[in-house]
Amino acid sequence: MERSIEPRASSSEKLQKCSHGNDASPVDRISNLPEPIICHILSFLPTKFAVGTSILSKSWQFLWAKVNTLDFNDELLLNSDEEEDEDDEFAGGGDGDGENKNFEEFVNSVFIRHKSVTLEKFRLRWRRGGCHAGYINTWFRDAIARNVKVIDLNVDYPDSAYVTQDIGFVYHLPGTLFTCKTLEFLSLEGPFLFKIPAMVCLPKLAVLQLIKVSYEIGSDESFCNFISSCLVLDSLSITRSSGDNLIVCAISSRSLRFLQLHFYSAFLSHWSETERLTIDAPALEHLIWRDEVSRIFSLQGLSSLSKVQLGLHALKCYSDCYNLVVKQVEAVNCAKSLELTRWTSIALACATTSVSTRFENLTELCITCRCCGWSFLNDLMDCAKKLEVLRITIGSSCKRKHKRCWRKPTDVLECLLHSLVQVSFTGFEGLKHELELIRYILKHGSVMKRVNLDIEAASRDSLLQEKISMFPRISHSCRIKFS
Ligand SMILES: [Zn+2]
Repeated sequence: MERSIEPRASSSEKLQKCSHGNDASPVDRISNLPEPIICHILSFLPTKFAVGTSILSKSWQFLWAKVNTLDFNDELLLNSDEEEDEDDEFAGGGDGDGENKNFEEFVNSVFIRHKSVTLEKFRLRWRRGGCHAGYINTWFRDAIARNVKVIDLNVDYPDSAYVTQDIGFVYHLPGTLFTCKTLEFLSLEGPFLFKIPAMVCLPKLAVLQLIKVSYEIGSDESFCNFISSCLVLDSLSITRSSGDNLIVCAISSRSLRFLQLHFYSAFLSHWSETERLTIDAPALEHLIWRDEVSRIFSLQGLSSLSKVQLGLHALKCYSDCYNLVVKQVEAVNCAKSLELTRWTSIALACATTSVSTRFENLTELCITCRCCGWSFLNDLMDCAKKLEVLRITIGSSCKRKHKRCWRKPTDVLECLLHSLVQVSFTGFEGLKHELELIRYILKHGSVMKRVNLDIEAASRDSLLQEKISMFPRISHSCRIKFS
């Protein structure tokens, strides 16, 4: 049951009355602060606690209503251990089944009583049961009408009792959201349905997070227009789920510096055969791309790209799917730092084609892989002539015979001659191909300075370390550190 908090006597004393040295007369320092400062302090509290201060004294009774943030979290409701307050004006009775309903009533009561003309933030976490779709819409409109800057909603599916054929199991967003001139941060997670109007005007929107939301059928073009109309958009995160009705995910932005994409689904059959991703973002610096559904892709204008993290899954165990991952990796060849997940490494190892585009700017390569399947490593290093740092992390070990192991290349890789200074290996087991790689790097790494070997606990023995220490090294300044 959501209700105001009854501060325990000791904490109430602390809040209200602070003693001055040996002076017995209490001084209420906090209440004597100017009202705007008290409201500012309260703005850092969840609304439940801000409302709770209304019982402190008459002067505190309505202060919470002037605080310009609203922050609701149903976890605070269900984890609450305070005793029930029968006089609470914000909530009804406290039976367990009614808690969700009471939370809904609490949020609604606060919106009705809240007096702040402007709103900095409206945050709602509601993951333990849905609410009335109409309420969400009303709160949204209310926040937008008060020139809200931050909207951060994470809600569950609407309560089935409120679902009608017209509405379905989704929350409809008000059209005014797309022309909110004060909005700077928008994060929506849950069953929100985007019906994007032709006119989008969000001149201050810098951060946009769309997590498992859905779009009206046929929204491909309006989605693209939505993103490109946000002229100061700096950070964009999109997590898609199957059945979101988007087929072409087109991201075109002149301002975007950070982009995170997460397109995974356990139900691959729900994705269209023509799923397409296009990115045109000349200011993009950091890209996190986790994808197993975009069968067609186009990345262009990524001249500012610095850091790239790839989590690319092959859709099926066919060479076409593995080879698609090779092309996707090649598409980010302007990166300075490249990180590959274990699944990406597996796809590269299983592909019948190899990475052959030059990575002119690449100085740092981090791969997570299995204990074997590193056959792609030479090709990738050969494309990165200026590689300085190589980091290898063993993500898992196979129980069967090691396959597609690393083999010594016929020609010495160019990066070893001129640029590679550091190799770090985490999960080193001392396998034959692991030792061969280290031996090769020490033998040819002309400018090598450091090899860090983090040896698996089961493989740690002094003989192994001694053996590696004896490998001939061309760079006399190269040190080997075991851990
Ligand atoms: Zn293996």
